[in-house]
Amino acid sequence: MALSPEHFELFKKHLRETCGSSIACPTCGQSLWSIDGPVVMLEYSVELESAVINGKGAPVVVMTCTHCYFVRQFAWLPILGHKVTFAAPAEDDSDVQR
Ligand SMILES: [Zn+2]
Repeated sequence: MALSPEHFELFKKHLRETCGSSIACPTCGQSLWSIDGPVVMLEYSVELESAVINGKGAPVVVMTCTHCYFVRQFAWLPILGHKVTFAAPAEDDSDVQR
């Protein structure tokens, strides 16, 4: 599913404000991204050879490097302005915002 034009502009604004004007791919160093979403990443568990989907999930916007196909995901609800509570970070992630 593609972002609406308004949501695409909102996402680009979020990237500019939080990540800067150019985002290099961490694996190949290129800055060639395809943006898609929001999609829902389902939480699942794997038992033997089958995946069990439990119905929980979170909408994310996906950025795919069009050079090496590395994928980044951004939580969509806080970008939209919804208050979202994240799980407490591990103790060594003290600089991570809760
Ligand atoms: Zn890449």
